[in-house]
Amino acid sequence: MSAQATQQDADLTVVIGLEVHVQLETETKIFCGCSTDADESEPNTNTCPVCLGLPGALPVLNEGAVEAAVKVGKALDSEIPEETRFHRKNYFYPDLPKNFQITQYDEPICQGGELEVTVEGDRRGIGIERAHLEEDPGSLQHVGGSIDTADYTLVNYNRAGVPLLEIVTKPDFRSPDEVRAFLAKMEEVLEYLGVFDSTRDGSLRVDANISLIEADKRDGELGEEALAAANRTEVKNISSHKGAEKALAYEVTRQRNAIQRGRGVEQETRHWDESRGITVSMRSKEEEKDYRYFEEADLPPLQVADWKERIDIPELPAARRERFREEYGLGEEAASKLTSTKQVADFYEDVAEAFDPDLAATWVADNLLGELNYRDMAITDVADRLDEFTRLVELVDEDEITVKNAEEIVLREMLDEGEDPDTVVEREGLEKTGGDAVASAVADAIDENPDAVEDYHDGQDDALNFLVGQVMAATGGSADPGTVNQLLREQLAD
Ligand code: ADP
Ligand code: MG
Ligand code: ZN
Repeated sequence: MSAQATQQDADLTVVIGLEVHVQLETETKIFCGCSTDADESEPNTNTCPVCLGLPGALPVLNEGAVEAAVKVGKALDSEIPEETRFHRKNYFYPDLPKNFQITQYDEPICQGGELEVTVEGDRRGIGIERAHLEEDPGSLQHVGGSIDTADYTLVNYNRAGVPLLEIVTKPDFRSPDEVRAFLAKMEEVLEYLGVFDSTRDGSLRVDANISLIEADKRDGELGEEALAAANRTEVKNISSHKGAEKALAYEVTRQRNAIQRGRGVEQETRHWDESRGITVSMRSKEEEKDYRYFEEADLPPLQVADWKERIDIPELPAARRERFREEYGLGEEAASKLTSTKQVADFYEDVAEAFDPDLAATWVADNLLGELNYRDMAITDVADRLDEFTRLVELVDEDEITVKNAEEIVLREMLDEGEDPDTVVEREGLEKTGGDAVASAVADAIDENPDAVEDYHDGQDDALNFLVGQVMAATGGSADPGTVNQLLREQLAD
């Protein structure tokens, strides 16, 4: 690489903006009563005249989808307008039976907003341009190859009409890893809101717009003009956070090479081929006029102003983290860990109700999450065993078993064998030997080992350790060593 190329290289700023398509979790589709359980059903069985676009069929808006969108809008600090409207976006593609998609155009349900992300310790706000409701197209299955090499393609309309929220960001990302952090954060917020199921196949799909722009050296900020003038590619078919990061890293390299070799970047739509790890050119990018947007006359404008007041959203991760710090006196790290998902936070609060918040935090954040993580399990796998887990903490709190046994035997057996804590304690004989029994074991050890007693009085520390060992052996390891130590000192002092 020439010195000149290196110089040029350093002056290029990566600019990325996202269009994130999120499937909203509703029972039925957005404009008809068909089930949204697309994955569970035989292909093309969750369909009706509306979602198949048969002549004369009329859409009816699903209130649940609107509510979910309003919740997202509130979480992203968007403005919810007085009135929102639907449009038809026309394009001819086999996954779209009507040859148009009902979507929103100039009056989307969420306008503006922001989502804050943390990347390597730095907090950054990513601007939200808008979020609009639309219907998901059907799904295509390319058989015998990928989109450009398949022998033929199958289409399944079960997905057609599943409610989608398309969240469009401002071109605020400056690197692929910021994108990854944003998507993780977005999923976390959506799950907190209860409007999204990340385990559903294809529930979050991303189109990523990317350009490399020669940075304005004066203030490092990119002006609107520079952003608008840059040739960018739109990478489609990204379905995971990792996929987004990889596809964009690939595009950064590809565009940088094209610029350095003097070819420049085409304004085009590219397809992310996950298995080959490359993006391939699909077509020149459509422009707005290609879609011939016009108003959807079958759906009247929707007055949404008062929905914002009416619909409540739960406490979001950042607020909950702060509250955990204040209310329970937790440190930053524990508070972050315990609010990493809504399920973890709920679980913690249930445990903290019964115990000291620090004890609860140690048990949930360190012990439980650690053991779950080690087993590739999640809190959702044990959410219905809250009572058993609480009982385990109680056994420790009431001094019935040692902390070591609780961590290393009882908790692990609970997870590995699915047993409740009392069963494990009984089977393994872990119950701490009660006060009287320990005291009498201590007395026995003193009676039976006069030599050690004498050595102890002569100032030999080893002798005390020896006597502790005798008591521990006599109680089968279930006595608390600290207590034994203390009792020995007391009885030997008499
Ligand atoms: P279009 O109508 O062509 O899709 P939009 O203005 O709606 O264009 O923007 C679509 C996406 O492109 C948005 O996410 C936006 O942030 C992003 N974007 C705009 N300018 C750039 C740029 N120069 N580089 C990368 N992404 C950009
Ligand atoms: Mg677009
Ligand atoms: Zn239908």
